[in-house]
Amino acid sequence: MLPLQQRINTIEETICQACERVGRNRDEVTVIAVTKQVSEERTQNVLDQGIIHLGENRPEGLLAKQHEIPQGAVWHFIGNVQSRKVKEIIERIDYLHSLDRLSLAKEIQKRAVEPVDCFVQVNVSGEDSKSGLSPAETQSFIESLSGYDKIRVIGLMTMAPLTEDQDTIRKVFRELRELRDQLAAEKMQHAPVTKLSMGMSNDYSIAIEEGATHVRIGTALVGSESEGDE
Ligand SMILES: *Cc1c(COP(=O)(O)O)cnc(C)c1O
Repeated sequence: MLPLQQRINTIEETICQACERVGRNRDEVTVIAVTKQVSEERTQNVLDQGIIHLGENRPEGLLAKQHEIPQGAVWHFIGNVQSRKVKEIIERIDYLHSLDRLSLAKEIQKRAVEPVDCFVQVNVSGEDSKSGLSPAETQSFIESLSGYDKIRVIGLMTMAPLTEDQDTIRKVFRELRELRDQLAAEKMQHAPVTKLSMGMSNDYSIAIEEGATHVRIGTALVGSESEGDE
């Protein structure tokens, strides 16, 4: 079996087991293959294996991949966006995972033709190195977007700290879920806030146990070019 196919099978099995442990349905979890570190060719191979959700974190990477893969993929932008780059990407993506400030929302409002499905990025762990709003300021930020008809806040996104400590990781994911539950209960028309984008190669299993609807998996799924397999 090809290494890529093997990795996908392993991930699929891990996801199913995580869902089973907490009584969730496998259909509730979308796998996004984060292809930021691999070639257009390898990205196409991922797509050919039936994984159609692709994640990129730089405008250049997104454009390069889309040039080679004009159709068949659903595009997720998962990286920090500079406001001046919004016009280059906003009509080319299906989901934005990194809405984290009002200036960015204003630029999207100005440039988007159709409403954009956005996740608001929350810095749950509070690390200086991470972007995102603090949990405490997230609700008022989302409320302030009610007049922005080009933005639909479909959920929240976070990144867990880089640590071996599973309890610390779990606590971060759990806190995002609780915040999501609280915001969803507000039933804001512009912000259903039902989705949770959390979990990467090292922690997607915990994220799914804690309610992730979108996992963003890079290295564990696509490998790295240096391995030399397909
Ligand atoms: C790179 C990246 C990922 C994937 O990371 P892996 O550890 O390779 O799975 C997920 N989310 C974001 C925001 C990223 O930048």
